[in-house]
Amino acid sequence: MYLFQQAASLSLTLQTARQNQLSIGFVPTMGALHEGHLDLIRHAKKQYDRVISSIFVNPAQFNDPADLAKYPRTLEKDLEALALTGADYVYFPEVSDVYPPNSQPETYPFGALETVLEGAHRPGHFEGVGMVVARLLRITVPNGLLLGEKDYQQCMVLQSLLKQMQWEQKVALHICPTRRENNGLAMSSRNQRLTEAGKKQAALLYEIIKSCQERYLQFSPDQLSDWAIHSLEAQGNIRVEYFSFADAQHLQPVQHWNESPAVRVLAAVWVEDVRLIDNALLF
Ligand code: AMP
Repeated sequence: MYLFQQAASLSLTLQTARQNQLSIGFVPTMGALHEGHLDLIRHAKKQYDRVISSIFVNPAQFNDPADLAKYPRTLEKDLEALALTGADYVYFPEVSDVYPPNSQPETYPFGALETVLEGAHRPGHFEGVGMVVARLLRITVPNGLLLGEKDYQQCMVLQSLLKQMQWEQKVALHICPTRRENNGLAMSSRNQRLTEAGKKQAALLYEIIKSCQERYLQFSPDQLSDWAIHSLEAQGNIRVEYFSFADAQHLQPVQHWNESPAVRVLAAVWVEDVRLIDNALLF
């Protein structure tokens, strides 16, 4: 596995791989890797000749400086896990390599996609995500971009980014299923900050999501989200930021199930001062 801290040398290496007709799959991450991230690497290895992963905690996507400061960083362990899983190249730059001091911040408008759900609760978040992924794509120029369904809104935002860059024909987008703990809790780097008791309590979120999948037809979206919020908060240690049903493509909230051919449930909750998100397809 080859390690890079400089975009220029990584670009050159990947350019040579492309010239040698090798296809490239790209897995961007912020590190503190878990099996969910490694699933993306495994998936990329099946589809592409070479796999490049990045580890970069992108300051531009954190609206809360305390969240950025607390974000777990486990570089040594991450590199070991990536090597064992079979990544070929890893890019783990300093902030100045991704955002050189004289570079102009380019932003991409994501319209209504970035004003709902995560976008509504984390102002500027998707602007930061768009900016960093556009830069990483220009450095790596991959054939495929592998993302996790766990961050479903991010997947839709980055699908829009590829369109805006006019790269949608050039880069295939793969959305890989959410990897979960045995108790259903979606794996997340942030779970490291939960106590064992917190991890158990947090598993209720997926229980409630599954109940919604089973019984949505008996209720309206509003009734179901009221029930879900009440059930989660009744537990005492969970605070719900949002629990919504939205059109799966545009992520606009639905008032009636027949408003959209595909509806997702998406939620953000706080457990022990840790913000967790999860989502699933209803139909
Ligand atoms: P992050 O390091 O949180 O920025 O995540 C990097 C990539 O891993 C993103 O595409 C995430 O959606 C994906 N990811 C994070 N958690 C999971 C999970 N539990 N299962 C599958 N993919 C995940």
